[in-house]
Amino acid sequence: MPAGKLHIVPLGGLGEFGMNCMAVRWADDIIVIDAGLMFPEVELLGVDIVVPDISYLLENRDKVRAIVLTHGHEDHIGGLPYVLTELNVPVYGTEFTLAYVENKLEEHGLLDDAALHEIRPNERVEIGPFTIHPIQVTHSLVDCVALAVHTPVGVIIHTGDFKVDPTPTDNKLFDLHTFAEYGKEGVLALFQDSTNVERPGYTPSERAVRRKFDEMFAMAERRLFISCFSSSIHRIKLALDLAYEYKRKVAIVGRSMSESTEIAEDLGYIEIPDGLLIHPGQIREFPPDKVCVLISGTQGEPMSGLSRAAVDNHKHAKIEPEDTVVLSSRIIPGNEKAIYRVIDHLFRRGAHVIYEDNSSPPVHVSGHASQEELKLIINLVKPRYFIPIHGEYRQLKRHAELAASMHGAVGHVVMAETGDILEFDELGMRKAGRATVGRVCIDAGGAAGEIVEELVIRDRRHLSEDGIVLPIIAINKLTGQVTAVPEIVMRGFAPATENGFMDEARQTVLRTLEESSNEEKGDPGLIKEKIRQELKRYIAKSTQRRPLIMPVILEI
Ligand SMILES: [Zn+2]
Ligand SMILES: [Zn+2]
Repeated sequence: MPAGKLHIVPLGGLGEFGMNCMAVRWADDIIVIDAGLMFPEVELLGVDIVVPDISYLLENRDKVRAIVLTHGHEDHIGGLPYVLTELNVPVYGTEFTLAYVENKLEEHGLLDDAALHEIRPNERVEIGPFTIHPIQVTHSLVDCVALAVHTPVGVIIHTGDFKVDPTPTDNKLFDLHTFAEYGKEGVLALFQDSTNVERPGYTPSERAVRRKFDEMFAMAERRLFISCFSSSIHRIKLALDLAYEYKRKVAIVGRSMSESTEIAEDLGYIEIPDGLLIHPGQIREFPPDKVCVLISGTQGEPMSGLSRAAVDNHKHAKIEPEDTVVLSSRIIPGNEKAIYRVIDHLFRRGAHVIYEDNSSPPVHVSGHASQEELKLIINLVKPRYFIPIHGEYRQLKRHAELAASMHGAVGHVVMAETGDILEFDELGMRKAGRATVGRVCIDAGGAAGEIVEELVIRDRRHLSEDGIVLPIIAINKLTGQVTAVPEIVMRGFAPATENGFMDEARQTVLRTLEESSNEEKGDPGLIKEKIRQELKRYIAKSTQRRPLIMPVILEI
């Protein structure tokens, strides 16, 4: 690239939901803002997570100076283990964000080699030709920042994820002043979160859920199960505070939920009075009206605590008639079916189920800015260029329209997508070609998370190298009975058959079915996932191969 030009290259998150990642380059120095993942869509069977293709960074590996994180959500940090494996550069983030990162890297055996640097709101850091100024913002997670990046051609501001919450539960205020000061000094470009651009008005404060939670605690006559994202520290704090007030013991079910709670306690975001927490194994030792269970699985994930409890297949979390179950989270588009299936099961157990149904007071509020908040920031920052980020194409487009309607506050509005190279210099901004971008699918079953290749090539390679295994199971829809011995069809995968591989594979399927309740068997999503995992384990163990496994359930 010519000297004297700033290149900004979104590597993920523009025109797609998740895997946020953006490169900022001046000559021979590159910094990367966020390295997120995307959860695979249902069609991507056999893949656990999706991360951005970082070819652009690898082609310039000697120039990449650092990754700077805005906050600790998976769509911003989830790609780190993969990126750092390919490119071990220093990582900058706030205290809380780094605590999540540490856990994540530890899991992948990458922590010892990682260089983590803490940043604090309002403390500037110099990296190469850039000065990074973290600005405190509010969001559904704690310790989140926007980034003002001083470059030789001007200041750019990346909002990260945010909403403007005037009454955050941790009392760490959104730093509107700093945004306004930058607006006065002049900002070259504003890159702003588009997630909630379709919502008019203001997003309610995180405090708005307190009324509903209070009501739930007051009304619940038996056990109270509360499910939220493990990163919803505000929500976990609220549940713990109220449980203490209402004299209920708290059991935390789910590893991510307990890890997250532990981090939040260590860093002083929540206080847990002595004796409040009990082990999940102790739930039944206390009267039902003296227990509250925090449980993971708001999105109907097949193997999560809540999904298992919903079909009465959790060792400790038993849901009984008249218990109350609360899903304090958004229903992420694409997950509706799985979530409503879990809710159906919960109702069948006789539980009272409370979930987001637009009633008031709300059981969940969003962490992203609605239209009026987006306009407020644009007004304060008054950028020369405005570029919507974090959204699918329609959201970016709506956000661009919203900004374009604000005459006087914005110079130019630019629609960019993942891979566009945005070039800035003293003459202005233009698109200067495309970088290689794409999605990399990762099968987390492998030791350090095995990369399963680019999506398009992936299936082909996977099939040609390891083949495909289709267990076909016929289940009677009414009785939940398996009507015949499972059929197993294999293509491009031929293990030595003399050692009884087929029989054992069929037995594995049958055993999985036997160990599942009728309700589980009546839930195709759940039972398929169970069979896939069991069979994957058996095949990997007996053949050291990893064919694509796609269970087929015939309901007859
Ligand atoms: Zn976020
Ligand atoms: Zn996000």
